[in-house]
Amino acid sequence: MNQDRYERVITAANNGTPDRVPWSVWAHYPAIPWLKYYSWELANRNGEHQAKAHLALLQALDYKMDLLKVTPFFRSMAYQWGSEFEFKNNDGKDTQKTIFVNEPEDWEKLWVLDPKKELRENLHCIQVLADTPHGTPFIYSISSAVTQALQGVSNPETFHQHLKEHPDAVMKGLETINESNKEFMKAAVDAGCHGFFYGIAGRGGYWSRFTKQQLIDITLKLDKDALSVDSELQMLHICNTLDENPEKNGKLMTSGWFNEYPVNILNWWDHHFVSVGEAKKVYGGKKCVAGGLDHKKTLMSTPEAIMAEAKQAIMDAADGGGFILAGGCTVSHEAPLANYNAVGKVVELYGRYKK
Ligand SMILES: [Zn+2]
Repeated sequence: MNQDRYERVITAANNGTPDRVPWSVWAHYPAIPWLKYYSWELANRNGEHQAKAHLALLQALDYKMDLLKVTPFFRSMAYQWGSEFEFKNNDGKDTQKTIFVNEPEDWEKLWVLDPKKELRENLHCIQVLADTPHGTPFIYSISSAVTQALQGVSNPETFHQHLKEHPDAVMKGLETINESNKEFMKAAVDAGCHGFFYGIAGRGGYWSRFTKQQLIDITLKLDKDALSVDSELQMLHICNTLDENPEKNGKLMTSGWFNEYPVNILNWWDHHFVSVGEAKKVYGGKKCVAGGLDHKKTLMSTPEAIMAEAKQAIMDAADGGGFILAGGCTVSHEAPLANYNAVGKVVELYGRYKK
């Protein structure tokens, strides 16, 4: 029997076996040229526009995506605290012009952001998506407190220097960012959001620079607290750069470290470190694995290449349930519509789980 998209995703997320493999591919949709005209810059200060760009993506697809990941500017909280950014050319990118935290005492100047005030546009986007009948469960992107501190609120050099010399001030700042995340997450769930894409470690300064003890005492502790906000779909996105990843720095992926996180889904760049098949052996039955498509290479290539890679991923990781076909991170806004449809087509044709 065919399930609807919500049931399919919830079943897979909780390590069950739905009627077929669910799929999702995410990008900075407001910057996609074939969606006619949306603006990445405007989407980040107007919640209605942000929601409409995501709805336009769903509408444009011939094969409906099972899970929608809503992607605001990942440094939108840092912007509210006073860091400055510049957007040009509607390419989904930004340039950081200034950081809010330069001196150790600046960590204590951060305040808890109010979802109904400073973050009202992000919340409004969620309200519009929840109030529009589109049948697609959606998760909203949240950057962990440490990720925000490293990338946006401050920068890796300043953060690590302050952490060494003024740990109390840094911890106070991190707790304020975490409280802002929690307040927003609670309001988002109340507004009808199905859960979160919780990103850790984006853009570097993370895996190679924290000791294991610091990962336990600082990042995991804060993340567990943030993820204690109850929601149906909690996807942990384990980000990396080409230079550093959690496998290279401590074999964290294959040691099962990410089982410590109170989430039901894991997503990471499986073509750069630890394939979905290998991860399934470590995390299968405990976490749903989401991945299988190389967002840098295959998703930018041809529908034929996408279908071949997707079939392989389904063979490697779908057995026993608990698998979502997805990219390893955000795909470029330049990926053509045909490539999204290729992913939708392949799960219709081959997305069956072996029991
Ligand atoms: Zn990422």
